[in-house]
Amino acid sequence: MKNIFLIALLLISASCSTTPVSGNKAFLLTSSETENQQGEAAYKEIIAKEKEVKGTPEARMVEEIGRRIAAVANQPDFKWEFKTLQSDEPNAFCLPGGKVAVYTGIFKYAGNEAGLATVMGHEIGHAIARHGGQRMSEQMVTNIAMAGLAATAFSKLDNTKKGLAIAALGAGTAVAISLPFSRKHETEADEIGLVLMSKAGYDPRESVNFWDRFSKAGGKAPMQFLSTHPTSENRHEHLREMLPKVMPYYEASAKLGIGKNLQ
Ligand SMILES: [Zn+2]
Repeated sequence: MKNIFLIALLLISASCSTTPVSGNKAFLLTSSETENQQGEAAYKEIIAKEKEVKGTPEARMVEEIGRRIAAVANQPDFKWEFKTLQSDEPNAFCLPGGKVAVYTGIFKYAGNEAGLATVMGHEIGHAIARHGGQRMSEQMVTNIAMAGLAATAFSKLDNTKKGLAIAALGAGTAVAISLPFSRKHETEADEIGLVLMSKAGYDPRESVNFWDRFSKAGGKAPMQFLSTHPTSENRHEHLREMLPKVMPYYEASAKLGIGKNLQ
């Protein structure tokens, strides 16, 4: 009964917001403030369980790309963090509020700075478009047991609900269940990511090469990243279509090209 009352309250306060870049309408029961608090707590939880890498050229590159993207992302409420985590799993995520993590396993697929900017821009795109909040909102409607998820402090959730919250907020990790983003959210994240990397000075044409490399490699071995970020057959075409729109941003930027190579 308490849960039903909670849902009714949440529905009354529900808002329909417009997603940046795509202009799509989004259904949200959560506030960005709550999402960011949950994102921060979930980030701490994940980082505590993983091995952080500091001071390597790759970790510095993650921070550099992150800072460049943050500078053009226009998200004053985000408390940005860019961490590199030791793992063979090629993975990356951005939780609400700008909490970014890149796993070392993704470097060989990223290939270069612009490839890494592609994946980081895409993840940050999910956070800017509040896909975490939208999925949390969907969970709250379809699953009464989860109704209190966003209303409860993250630290008070049991492990199962923590895993679900982490997955809903946008991180596919060993401590979360696997929750794929929808095609619509993938396309939105691609579009926002492309704008961000271009404005940050990375050649957006490299994004097409990165996704081709990455999805081809994913065909050989199952990757958590590709199960949470399903590739669509038309991603390649869609990215190419978007290029003329974002090239002017790149032309007006510091124009770093594809940047340094990664091994
Ligand atoms: Zn995605």
